[in-house]
Amino acid sequence: MTSIRPPFVIAADPRMTKTAEPAQTQSALSLIGLSRHFGTFKALDSISLEIEEGEFFTIVGPSGSGKTTMLRILAGLDRPTQGSLLLRGTDITDMPANQRPTAMVFQSLALFDHRSVGENVEFALKMRGMPKPERREKAFELLDLVHLGRDYYNRAVTQCSGGERQRVALARALASDPEILFFDEPLSALDYRLRKTLEVELRELQRRTGRTFVYITHSLEEAMVMSDRIGIMREGKLVQIGTPAEIYGQPKDRFVARFMGEVNIFEVADHRLVDFDASVSTVKDGFLIVRPEMLHPADAKDPDVHFDATIAEVFRLGSRVQLHLETAAGLLVSEQPASCQLKPNDAVRFGFDPDQTHSVPE
Ligand code: ATP
Repeated sequence: MTSIRPPFVIAADPRMTKTAEPAQTQSALSLIGLSRHFGTFKALDSISLEIEEGEFFTIVGPSGSGKTTMLRILAGLDRPTQGSLLLRGTDITDMPANQRPTAMVFQSLALFDHRSVGENVEFALKMRGMPKPERREKAFELLDLVHLGRDYYNRAVTQCSGGERQRVALARALASDPEILFFDEPLSALDYRLRKTLEVELRELQRRTGRTFVYITHSLEEAMVMSDRIGIMREGKLVQIGTPAEIYGQPKDRFVARFMGEVNIFEVADHRLVDFDASVSTVKDGFLIVRPEMLHPADAKDPDVHFDATIAEVFRLGSRVQLHLETAAGLLVSEQPASCQLKPNDAVRFGFDPDQTHSVPE
């Protein structure tokens, strides 16, 4: 692994230093009631959010929930219909993208295919009029930083694999020395293994450079691995913001719980599970969120909630086994260690401990 210092020191921009408050007390980005309407349709509906300096913030949400619309406004590629955007306390709502100290990495990489890797990385530096030897030195540094190495400098972009192209795009975005990097699903076109590697590398890169990363993705797993905090979007609104552990363990409602992976949801009324007519005296009325790993074969002595199940399907997923269970509450999902020997049509009692679950009002 290459050890490297944070790339460059950012020159103070007079536009960014107008306010009197000390920089460390201010968020990197403040979104204040941001809305974006297309005709009568509210693609973004009054979003307020503080993204902290040096934070890895990920926006996740289903297709059409407004993620790209939000990122485009943050990057200056679009303007909000209402609301404002502050960078360290300074209003940049109307500042064009090319004047902002930010850069964006897209899913479609938009590299210059007819140019070399080095020329791609150096593009922003050349635009700034930096002399060639200096440019080259910085391009080398950046190629090391993204784990490509300086051997790639003269290689044609067309000779690079998908993962290598993604690293070139990253180095190119970093070359403009941005304070904030925006990522629009940069890994979604890559295969699983490469995505996993790049997830870890991106996280590492963010920590080493200390930059603020704002990332959008459909992938819950990507969000969980990389982010300090996650914002969940639904129909143009941010419905929950929290650390990955908070969002997974304490979802605000059934939508967030379902969005954050496989889940079993039971209705609770009068402190009883409606489907199994079992008492759950410690649980509030509403809905009980039971993750697959909390649902396990129960033996007779187990004090948990119990119910009869028939194994419908068994999926071996490497280190774990996913079971689909037919029950009085419909199809449920359980996850067990790979050593689990249950097979389709087995009749088993399953159960869970209600005190380890999470309940939501809606
Ligand atoms: P995906 O994950 O599929 O990329 P997304 O969460 O990024 O979706 P957006 O691209 O932000 O969603 O779109 C949010 C909504 O706004 C969608 O219903 C989309 O059709 C609508 N929308 C986006 N841009 C425009 C536009 N220029 N004109 C009209 N409607 C638009």
